[in-house]
Amino acid sequence: MTKIVIENAYIAPVVGEEIPSGYLIIDNGRIEALGAGPAPTVVGAERISGTGCLVTPGLVNTHHHLYQWATQGLYQDSTLFEWLTGLYRTWAAMDADVVYGAATAGLGWLALTGCTTSSDHHYVFPKGRGDLFEAEVRAAQEIGLRFHPCRGSMDRGQSQGGLPPDEVVEDRDEILSSTAEIIDRYHDASFDSMLRVAVAPCSPFSVSEGLMLDAATLARTKGVRLHTHLAETLDEEVHCREQLGLSPVEYMEKLGWLGDDVWFAHAVHLHDADITRFAETGTGSAHCPSSNARLGAGIARVSELLAAGAPVGLGVDGAASSELTSMAGEMRQAMLFQRAVHGPTALTARQALEMGTLGGARNLGRHNEIGSLEPGKLADIAIWRVDGFRAAVQDPVCALVFGPTPPLARLLVGGRTVVANDELRTLPHDMVGQAGVLARKRLLRQESR
Ligand SMILES: [Zn+2]
Repeated sequence: MTKIVIENAYIAPVVGEEIPSGYLIIDNGRIEALGAGPAPTVVGAERISGTGCLVTPGLVNTHHHLYQWATQGLYQDSTLFEWLTGLYRTWAAMDADVVYGAATAGLGWLALTGCTTSSDHHYVFPKGRGDLFEAEVRAAQEIGLRFHPCRGSMDRGQSQGGLPPDEVVEDRDEILSSTAEIIDRYHDASFDSMLRVAVAPCSPFSVSEGLMLDAATLARTKGVRLHTHLAETLDEEVHCREQLGLSPVEYMEKLGWLGDDVWFAHAVHLHDADITRFAETGTGSAHCPSSNARLGAGIARVSELLAAGAPVGLGVDGAASSELTSMAGEMRQAMLFQRAVHGPTALTARQALEMGTLGGARNLGRHNEIGSLEPGKLADIAIWRVDGFRAAVQDPVCALVFGPTPPLARLLVGGRTVVANDELRTLPHDMVGQAGVLARKRLLRQESR
């Protein structure tokens, strides 16, 4: 791969001092150097002008359900449990083609809003509908994002006291053997890895205690990470207390599900002791402010988690509860929500940027490889246009985080261009959007059969 030089840019590396006018050199997919002033001459390098641009690490999305791109705009005014109960039967009609189309559009949208690494949490596997996991992996490979898909699962249907109908849950042994097979087939632990798998039973109200325990054993045997939804709503707190006699975090602790190889989606309703335990154990959380607000779930105690030293990243969550959510926009939402509750010093623009980059990388166990611009790290880089109207904002990082998502001059993943001038370059831009529309049509047609 040729060398690339980004020059004359405002660089916010997240770790280390910001560089108001500087350069960054990429060699073979990794950051070779960055510094202030004019770029040195690099023979044969591609030169990218950073004039009027802010350079940041690519954003890291740590919670998503890509298949939900096909069910946006439904149950617009429902609580989480109403919304889930309404959608389970629609999701039961999905097949590999629906997942591929939805994932293609969902990942394309993430790229266009500055994301270079995304997790996904897929937990609905109706029988006889093709290889759903392969479909989303293929979509990520074609769009060109670094991908951390989680093999999700549900084994506790309504007949077992769970929330989902029995037709969308799977057998525990089948889940475990399928998950092990997926890890063996796809998981790549290397430094430059484009694909790492995590183990992710869905939630305390849709998964048995036995599966939670077996999932943790499997993940730790294979050396992969653990993910699940936790403490998203007060309904969940009530459910856990009634059925288990514990709070959601107490339940996780009992199951051995706290640790630096675990990150939870949401973690909205935490008690003071939970925050302390997250910090002590290095347990991460994926803050999804737009989704939490859309479902009226509440506002996570992010500034308190950060103050305690717990890892916190951001997530857009599935598009059915967070329509067309911009990855960069979640930095703004996170910052504004904390300030609305705790005052204007609760979360700074730089802290929000760090959550969207290095915080997410910590959730995924990749803080040594991505999440900041440092020599030796992977060249996952967003180059934002902060000229024009945005130049009136004195501080480029403020323009990025306080304002709406800026246009992207470039998005690089391992030095490869995925977006240029706000257009996808790995697949035809318009086709990617259309793939999401076709996925929705196909799903609704199959549901009505
Ligand atoms: Zn979720």
